Amino acid sequence: MSTGSINVSVENIFPLIKKFLYSDHEIFLRELISNATDATTKLKHLTVIGEAKVDYGNPIIEVKIDKEAKTLSIKDQGLGMTGEEVEKYINQVAFSGAEEFLEKYKDSAKDAGIIGHFGLGFYSAFMVAEKVEIFTKSYKEDSKAVRWICDGSPEYTLEETEKSDRGTEIVLHIAEDSLEFLEESKIRELLTKYNKFNQIPIKFGMKTETLPLPEGSAEDAKAETVEVDNIINNPTPAWTKAPSELKAEDYNNFYRELYPMQFEDPLFHIHLNVDYPFNLTGVLFFPKLANNLNIEKDKIQLYQNQVFVTDEVKGIVPDFLMLLRGVIDSPDIPLNVSRSYLQADGAVKKISSYITKKVADKMVSLFNENREDYQQKWNDIKIVIEYGMISEDKFYEKSDKFALYPTTEGQYYLWNELVEKIKPTQTDKDGKTVILYATNADEQHSYIASARDKGYEVLLLDSPIVPHLIQKLESSKENVSFARVDADHINNLIKKDEPVISKLNETDKETLKKNIEESINDQKFTVQLEDLDSTDAPFTLTQPEFIRRMKDM
Ligand code: ADP
Ligand code: MG
Repeated sequence: MSTGSINVSVENIFPLIKKFLYSDHEIFLRELISNATDATTKLKHLTVIGEAKVDYGNPIIEVKIDKEAKTLSIKDQGLGMTGEEVEKYINQVAFSGAEEFLEKYKDSAKDAGIIGHFGLGFYSAFMVAEKVEIFTKSYKEDSKAVRWICDGSPEYTLEETEKSDRGTEIVLHIAEDSLEFLEESKIRELLTKYNKFNQIPIKFGMKTETLPLPEGSAEDAKAETVEVDNIINNPTPAWTKAPSELKAEDYNNFYRELYPMQFEDPLFHIHLNVDYPFNLTGVLFFPKLANNLNIEKDKIQLYQNQVFVTDEVKGIVPDFLMLLRGVIDSPDIPLNVSRSYLQADGAVKKISSYITKKVADKMVSLFNENREDYQQKWNDIKIVIEYGMISEDKFYEKSDKFALYPTTEGQYYLWNELVEKIKPTQTDKDGKTVILYATNADEQHSYIASARDKGYEVLLLDSPIVPHLIQKLESSKENVSFARVDADHINNLIKKDEPVISKLNETDKETLKKNIEESINDQKFTVQLEDLDSTDAPFTLTQPEFIRRMKDM
């Protein structure tokens, strides 16, 4: 037997980082832009607290492709690095300058929106580049510009260089197997996916803009055009602003910015904004859903400090709200190195229940502010609400204040209003208030008509999850039961006071009933003759409630 220690050297670790740290090669661009953004944000912070005495100006980040030289570069006007800082921050794998900055300025900079975290992002450049150069000049007085160059082996060169402007330029010499990252369309796609709402403006090429004609110009005057920076992002999206700054129209515009292919306005929005016990902002939208449970595309997007993380938000957003659209931005959602979030984390659960509460509160206020409008939209939002009621107890507890129960006649009741209304006429022998409902107004037309003739209210509950909703209501509300309008339970209800005189005598009725029963020949149905006054159905066939419901499940 022998023991010993395994020898780990940098040479061995480096290719591992390249290969396995990130599952997705394309994220290198997000990481480098995040660093450029952090560098700019840090400089701003240092100028604000008076530590950097420079003209901050209106810094941008520029992304450039040089196809001939096979390079992609990311240039910022941030705080830059001195030679020593390059040694410290770049040459030390897994030492995060972002973390260090937050630690050093923890009181003043905690809400500054610094993105970096693990001290590994920079090295993702080697997933696509065979050689990386850094040209950087610190904001600090008298600092000399330096150039760092490394081909992915642990050897690097650091030397003085010519660079007159403050900031950093990262130049990636794209490897042969990653040439797609020299395509304009590919880079544009990545910038749009990850950085559409980046905190600092990102320039990618130029674009032509038409100037407005000066006043009093001749009708055939030609409008002048100018070349301007093509800024691909909106650094101040709706969710970063206070709700009081925004009008309904601004939210609709933001919705379209998020989902350019959605032409229909959303029904409602919910602006999320918490800073304790965790930080979270966002805007959720209710699209027109009707009974549609299909959420293939245009899902809720998760951001962190305005950098896109994922649109797989299961766990963070409770299931029933996955039908909504919008954005959630939280720096407090714990991510792993490749910025996928950690589902099982306690913080994630807290966030999920906060969102549930917030949506419930918003429904209450929407209902109270304009009941008419809310009722009109009910059909398009009910699937979300009903799904929430059956899946989230906290949501269910509040739902009496905003869940509606529409009748076949187009009335909308809250739970208490409904029970109040039907109690006198729809209480059965056991003292239970029986809520009659139809699931399909057309198919159950004659049953509905006959029940209404007897003076009963009939609800129209037609979403696909209604059987579960009814189960939930029956198990939690006291002294109520539900009966489908075509089930036999309805016969147990107290009849209207004045009996209708039938045209048939009792013997006729018996014979008729027997005949019908024989011709149907199915034990599961009950035949019930109707007293022919105004209904157009001379008899009804009903089944036990449980059989009717089973068919819907
Ligand atoms: P992290 O961002 O998690 O700190 P990175 O590996 O992405 O880790 O970057 C390491 C460090 O290198 C940063 O924290 C920062 O100090 C420095 N750095 C990287 N890019 C830049 C840049 N564009 N400008 C200034 N400093 C930078
Ligand atoms: Mg980083």
